[in-house]
Amino acid sequence: MGLIRYLLIAAAGLLAIVIFKRIVAKPLRQHLDNKEDERLGRLVQDPQCLVYVDNRDAVRRKVPGGELFFCSESCATQYMEAQGGA
Ligand SMILES: [Zn+2]
Repeated sequence: MGLIRYLLIAAAGLLAIVIFKRIVAKPLRQHLDNKEDERLGRLVQDPQCLVYVDNRDAVRRKVPGGELFFCSESCATQYMEAQGGA
């Protein structure tokens, strides 16, 4: 009887480790993704109001030859309208 009890405790322990790993692994991966973003994060200039914004927070607009970054949706809209683009 004693042996079965030990086996049950061991199985429960393993199960706990597996569950724990699943719970921990996901935020860890998200954390690594954030790390990647931090690495790519840089200041970009809003061509509309000329303010510098972090490209991770910026409103993006794809343009021929690249991408533009704006501090806000309204700046992006104003700029694109001024350019006669979509
Ligand atoms: Zn702006």
